[in-house]
Amino acid sequence: MKIMALFIVATSLLNSSCSWAQTPSPKQKQNMEEQKSNPVFSRSKEEKVTMSEEEWKKILTPEQYYIARQKGTERPWTSKFEKFDEKGTYYCAACGNTLFQSNTKFDSGCGWPSFFEPVNKKSLIYLPDNTLGMQRTEVQCGRCKAHLGHVFDDGPPPTGLRYCINGVILGFEKK
Ligand SMILES: [Zn+2]
Repeated sequence: MKIMALFIVATSLLNSSCSWAQTPSPKQKQNMEEQKSNPVFSRSKEEKVTMSEEEWKKILTPEQYYIARQKGTERPWTSKFEKFDEKGTYYCAACGNTLFQSNTKFDSGCGWPSFFEPVNKKSLIYLPDNTLGMQRTEVQCGRCKAHLGHVFDDGPPPTGLRYCINGVILGFEKK
């Protein structure tokens, strides 16, 4: 009888684990943050996003925060989008802003997802970057100013440009 009672208690604890387990694993937490608790994420809104660094820290994963808000660079050859040729649209993982179409993606061999043209002029912001003893042009998301990567002038036709983008801050919507 006692064993049966214990069994029932244990089972009910297991069944209710969804509601009382308030400490999600880092993986679960990451997924929740990406899918739910981002108040500015939108695949259609165009108005500019301004949020404090503290708020961004809560919304983004640590890797995304490092790239987007601290102008970090992911290690080359680590992005799932580096060798990836599905048809669709790439958007800013921080705010949902549409950035690139898959038909402008090319294999640059540089170790990061590369594109020769953004979706439109407003989708990106360009800024001079003279750090690391180089003269480069930084590209940021036109909506939330997330650091995305850099643009170089050694890309393929028709633009001759190479947008070298950190895959961590990209989302993908299949066509
Ligand atoms: Zn953005």
